[in-house]
Amino acid sequence: MQIETIDLQFKGISQTIASYLIIGPDGPILIESGPGSTTEALVSGLAKHGFVPADIKHLLVTHIHFDHAGAAGWWAKQGAHVYAHHFGAKHLIDPSRLIASATRIYGDAMDTLWGKLLPIPAEQLTSLYDGDTVEAAGLTFEVIETPGHARHHHIYRLGDIAFTGDATAVIIPSANLTDLPAPPPEFDREAWLHTLDRIEAEQFSAIYPTHFGRVDAVQTHLDSIRPLLMDASTFVKSKMDDGLTRDEIIAAYRKWNEARAEQAGLSPHQIAQYAAANPQDMSVDGIMRYWRKKS
Ligand SMILES: [Zn+2]
Repeated sequence: MQIETIDLQFKGISQTIASYLIIGPDGPILIESGPGSTTEALVSGLAKHGFVPADIKHLLVTHIHFDHAGAAGWWAKQGAHVYAHHFGAKHLIDPSRLIASATRIYGDAMDTLWGKLLPIPAEQLTSLYDGDTVEAAGLTFEVIETPGHARHHHIYRLGDIAFTGDATAVIIPSANLTDLPAPPPEFDREAWLHTLDRIEAEQFSAIYPTHFGRVDAVQTHLDSIRPLLMDASTFVKSKMDDGLTRDEIIAAYRKWNEARAEQAGLSPHQIAQYAAANPQDMSVDGIMRYWRKKS
């Protein structure tokens, strides 16, 4: 078995969104399709390993956000069978609601950012539940439900490693900074803390977050997510309590993150990588929604 990280060059920036190519005894598998806007990068990444799109018979997505599963329909069209959380599956079969809500957020930028979202025929989609196993290309993946970033999030265990999507936050290679992706509408702090306990108990020897690349220091990384979850959510809550508007909170949150970036010694390129992988206004919206739901 061989695992390759394919850099999707999202927005032309390196190491922001990954797709993982796993070469099993019986062929290749993809974890995450990335968005439709990066399909060309994914196809050329596969070509470097000697594969064409029709070789991909199995695509596993951790959740249905566009940066992870936006191109899943395109891969289904090339013949791939797609595996997704049962809450997300219906939206992949009929993406009209996803498209409508994303168009409200992104407007005209929708196509350039995410590309086209194609429907997946129901017979090419398997709905996954916690504890399921996926047999693909001679390998066995265990499905572990990991809500927090999104309610409909799974990680996939393969032996003693796991593909963790956004459940283990964002960490760009060689940047010493963990960043919290807390988008609306399903960000849930308590669920995420529980998810981190669950991931920790698995004692993985390495994890593969989608943003970006293999992480070997699993415990150190997990230990950095918990305080960040608490600090970021508490920060936004305190600004809400102070009566700040959404835009004011976003400005304050950016400042707070700029200070973190400076402390971590990020280069301008690394700052751009984090911004592309995880827009901060999105997290403010997600955290604000979380607190409103709670009160
Ligand atoms: Zn996501």
